[in-house]
Amino acid sequence: MDISRRKFLKIGAAAGGSAACAVAAKAEARNARQPEPQWYGMLNDSTRCIGCKACMVACKKENKLEAESTLGEKEALGEQLYDAPRALSEHTYTLIKMHGEGEQEKTFVKAQCMHCVDPACASACIVGALKKEDNGAVKYDAGMCMGCRYCMVACPYSVPQFEWHRAIPSIRKCTLCSETRLEKGKPTACAGVCPAGAITFGRRSELIKIARARIDAAPEIYLDHIYGEQEVGGTGVLYLTKKYVAFAGLGLGDFDYKPVSGLTESIQHRIFQYFIPPIAVYSILGGIMAYNQRRKHNAGIEGGDDEY
Ligand code: SF4
Ligand code: SF4
Repeated sequence: MDISRRKFLKIGAAAGGSAACAVAAKAEARNARQPEPQWYGMLNDSTRCIGCKACMVACKKENKLEAESTLGEKEALGEQLYDAPRALSEHTYTLIKMHGEGEQEKTFVKAQCMHCVDPACASACIVGALKKEDNGAVKYDAGMCMGCRYCMVACPYSVPQFEWHRAIPSIRKCTLCSETRLEKGKPTACAGVCPAGAITFGRRSELIKIARARIDAAPEIYLDHIYGEQEVGGTGVLYLTKKYVAFAGLGLGDFDYKPVSGLTESIQHRIFQYFIPPIAVYSILGGIMAYNQRRKHNAGIEGGDDEY
């Protein structure tokens, strides 16, 4: 039977819609995961960052990541590349972006995996290729990955990147230097090189105390909010911002104080319980992605005029 593309998409949308309703009706929020005392993380203090990008360079070196052309001229220029990436990619695990205009608003912010307390990427992964480690890092196992890319869709911060150009691709993202440094008792590479003290490495619980102490000591400088203490159920990477600069304008979404992992996990369980067809799964996860993107767009996060 011949079926037009339009009809196919309609059926897909309907299947996705019904499945989504079924899931939404039956998905029960499981108890959110709580942070554990031994977990490591980082405090990124955007009031201190001077935008030198030493942390980006250290990350590339530590993870042996390729340089990238800003203009997509890799083929033409070969090795003569100017490495100034505009977004996270399979070659760029962390990125410094400047937001805002004028001396007061201009702020440099570090983008990277947040190493969430209850990671949506791990919950969305059907085969368990992403996992929260005992040291707090959210680690990826390429050997287990089946390339479905649910993690990319589920992550509220658009962190996981896919190696589109490879025959056998993997997901790439910040590892919190788990294997190369944490397990050897060293801080993350980025924290180790920051000349401005903008990145503090340590136990998450200690970082919250440090952040609180900084806010209390200089309320005229800091906004009275530690980003990541609660957002999406808590993150291992925490942020401070200037008193008059909102986190939402820095690429840090104004998310609710609850993890999204409960929803992604419930969806996964229903897939196996009812054998919901893949087209429906993509529709549901696509809906989550559209929601995340809309939130970011509304907050002026990606591609805004004030972002460099
Ligand atoms: S920021 Fe995204 S990729 Fe990183 S742990 Fe959280 S959900 Fe996973
Ligand atoms: S090394 Fe420190 S000061 Fe330099 S860009 Fe990175 S966070 Fe900012």
